[in-house]
Amino acid sequence: MAEQNPATNTIAAISTPPGRGGIGIVRLSGPQAASIAAQLVSLRQPLEHARARLADVLDVAGAGAGRTGRIDQALVTWFAAPNSYTAEDVVEIAAHGSPVVLELLLRRSLDLGARLAEPGEFTQRAFLAGRLDLTQAEAVRDLIEAQTLTQVRQAASQMGGALSRRVQPVKQALVELIALLEAGIDFAEDDVDVTPADEIARRIGELTPALAALAASFARGRIVHDGLTLAIVGRPNVGKSSLFNRLVERERAIVTATPGTTRDTVTERISLDGIPLELVDTAGLRESLREDLEEAEQLGIIRSREALADAALVLVVLDATQPLNDEEHRLLAAVEGRPAIIVLNKCDLTPSAHIAPELLILHTSALTGEGIPELRERILALATGGAASEPGMLTSLRHHQAITTALAALGDAATANGSAIPHEMILLDLYRALWALDSLTGQTTSDDILNLIFSTFCIGK
Ligand code: GDP
Repeated sequence: MAEQNPATNTIAAISTPPGRGGIGIVRLSGPQAASIAAQLVSLRQPLEHARARLADVLDVAGAGAGRTGRIDQALVTWFAAPNSYTAEDVVEIAAHGSPVVLELLLRRSLDLGARLAEPGEFTQRAFLAGRLDLTQAEAVRDLIEAQTLTQVRQAASQMGGALSRRVQPVKQALVELIALLEAGIDFAEDDVDVTPADEIARRIGELTPALAALAASFARGRIVHDGLTLAIVGRPNVGKSSLFNRLVERERAIVTATPGTTRDTVTERISLDGIPLELVDTAGLRESLREDLEEAEQLGIIRSREALADAALVLVVLDATQPLNDEEHRLLAAVEGRPAIIVLNKCDLTPSAHIAPELLILHTSALTGEGIPELRERILALATGGAASEPGMLTSLRHHQAITTALAALGDAATANGSAIPHEMILLDLYRALWALDSLTGQTTSDDILNLIFSTFCIGK
């Protein structure tokens, strides 16, 4: 019976992460949520909207035959439709976080007529019910996946509709322009004045700056959302691991005076002004190679090259006490034209550097900490390209594509208008722009794309 209309099915999932915890939550959403919950546990009081109720989880489902023993206590909260996350009846059962109990509750709720929720299905229902637009739904996922407080803030502002609010006035003005042209076409035969070309040009011109600013916000929004990788490269013993530790601010990599003790590539995620930065220390050299310094250097350089290929940003570390060798010259040539920072480390040991002055070099000492704040600033500037944080930034490629498609369509409309092409044709371009803006908020997004987006959520959200 439930199969006939999947949208009204009651779904169930364990909403807390897999594994053991202080508490664990089983969540139900759909028309049968409350009735299933009432059979699932032994409630001490009847359910009431938005009130937590104590209940016993019993060993055997259903009363009747034999003694049933309590195996856990739970708090059951019912949110009556439409005042819930999904706008349907929602019940949350918070038990102790034993996966055994949670799985038992989930299995029983399936026996009682619920079906297992797909990843993101609760949020998808909230979206389908109109409680959230697509950018807000995506922000729910971003919030859950956030690794820095800046990412949390960004997700929270998007969840509050910051991005939609930036798009809304543009969409409104576009709809008005479309209405104007449509009316002109409808009344053309009645000799009503059609909108003059310069009026159309002016109106299109007013739409573009806001969209262009949104498109530009992707430069910062993307790195806040996705983060960046910074590879630390250089010869063994120049102080890569020491700098890495300085940036990480705790002893993550093992640093010793022997070249090549960092046995493998070490990676650590740091937050630089809220931007997640993955640092890759490439000092990695095998112990067996310690004897053979030449081979060790070779391997170090190979590692550096590999990391170089993958990373968005590069930190080249040179040793202030050593002249540049051939490999270093090659390394410097390899990073030319790439977003790279070159540091001359161990500057505490030599007062004046003897390295090519034309290179833009930062002097650091991983030992004393000199130059480290400047290094952080340089990394941040390189990572952001100077783009500032702003509310309602574009954070995903999907958003960016929607906005650039709209901009391109408006550009086509402006060109068509300039060439005195019939308004019907200009309208096609304007509708294309409108469609792109609607796809951002999910008003015209195809089911396939919607399913793809929600499938990236975790189960139970
Ligand atoms: P890596 O092989 O490039 O990762 O180099 P390490 O970070 O392991 O450092 C090699 C040696 O140089 C260690 O003994 C460090 O303590 C030392 N070292 C690193 N940075 C500095 C620095 O800025 N000044 C001084 N004096 N020693 C440093």
